[in-house]
Amino acid sequence: MLVVNNETKIDTKLPRLVTPLPGPEARRILKLDQRYVSPSYTRDYPLVAKTGRGAMIEDVDGNIFLDYAAGIAVCSTGHCHPEVVAAIQKQAAELIHMSGTDFYYQRLVDLAEKLASITPGDEPKRVHFGNSGTEAVEAAIKLAKFHTKRDKLVAFHGAFHGRTMGSLSLTASRSVQRKGFGTLLAGVFHMPFPDTYRGTYGVRPERASEDCLSYLENELFRRRVDPEEVAAIFIEPIQGEGGYIMAPREFLQGLQRICRKNGILLVADEVQCGMGRTGKFWAVEHSGVEPDIICTAKGIASGMPLSAMIAPTSVMDWPPGAHGSTFGGNPVCIAAALATIRLLETQYMANAERMGEYILRRTANWRERFRTVGDVRGRGLMIGIEFVRDQKTKEKAPEVRNEVVQRAFQKGLIVLPSGDTTLRISPPLLIDEEQTDFAFDTLESIIASIEKG
Ligand code: PLP
Repeated sequence: MLVVNNETKIDTKLPRLVTPLPGPEARRILKLDQRYVSPSYTRDYPLVAKTGRGAMIEDVDGNIFLDYAAGIAVCSTGHCHPEVVAAIQKQAAELIHMSGTDFYYQRLVDLAEKLASITPGDEPKRVHFGNSGTEAVEAAIKLAKFHTKRDKLVAFHGAFHGRTMGSLSLTASRSVQRKGFGTLLAGVFHMPFPDTYRGTYGVRPERASEDCLSYLENELFRRRVDPEEVAAIFIEPIQGEGGYIMAPREFLQGLQRICRKNGILLVADEVQCGMGRTGKFWAVEHSGVEPDIICTAKGIASGMPLSAMIAPTSVMDWPPGAHGSTFGGNPVCIAAALATIRLLETQYMANAERMGEYILRRTANWRERFRTVGDVRGRGLMIGIEFVRDQKTKEKAPEVRNEVVQRAFQKGLIVLPSGDTTLRISPPLLIDEEQTDFAFDTLESIIASIEKG
């Protein structure tokens, strides 16, 4: 008999705090964590999670939080969705591991077929499975080099593609992520991302797409790297760790045009923005662009470790032995992914679109109401709120953003920062109006009280 999360006591849709934070049991665990766990982790506040259900998290002291972070945009169907839990339990009792690199397995094919069918483009696709976002990106780097027989790569300022040595070479989000690790992959070039709010060095916000495309063709390709040597351009259609910044539709279309003209593969890193979060399976679908390679992870299996790199059959032309993974495509993770995709298709992708519009309507006047809010932007349930010291100069206000994050935690609302000065809203895709009203009432009262001083 399957036991589906019957033991959880979470019986509320809104936060309920019963101790000062952190509570006594949390404090005990924090002490041990400080002694035994890697100090490289970035914890913003002391949430010690114990149980999860839907959009709610209960900590070890019985405090219940509303989770608008979803384990960094991972728990797409919420915490411990009964259908996902049932799929995991059933699969775990049948077969836990078999190694898709060495043997065959029905559901591995089922998931590959499903992913191929939901990926844009008419060409048949094939799928390589891994365990994390960075592995999907590593696989894409290797495939792009192998297929094109070229070895240069282009990525963007502010990009986050992962922390292993290949993906880290593409990452240009924070120097602390690269500092101390010596020489990274050679032949990686970075260019400005089309940020229509802020612009970046030399890029005008109102002409961000044209300026960035011009930089690529007239600066990068003319002076620093010949396009004939470039294997791939990696882009997050919506930058995640960089601050929830959306690449405009015309930029993505222009980028695709330039890639096709020069035989360069366009790789969409959809690790954070994909799997239904923006209201479509892939964020890139909003622009009509068909990338040559898509990388996905995070939301694909509701929290089980799984990633996929998807490419047309004509591109995925490497031979047996060229790449593989012992655990990638683990049967239990695949069962979770198949259940997750079913839920996204039948309910949660549409809910993400609807609730995203609800939030953007609700925050439409925030720039007028709050002098520290510079910009509210996003698509579906991937929304960034950027804080500034001055709306005219757009001077960044990380201290305001950080204070909002801390005070939200103290009120039972889990949110995370992103980029230098942006608050990220990335809840599970099942949140409703009541929860959203609570979250945004809470944020409004926090911002108002910070502005009052
Ligand atoms: N790519 C993007 C766009 C991401 O946001 C992340 C993680 O935040 C990664 C890659 C790396 O994923 P992982 O931490 O699973 O390796």
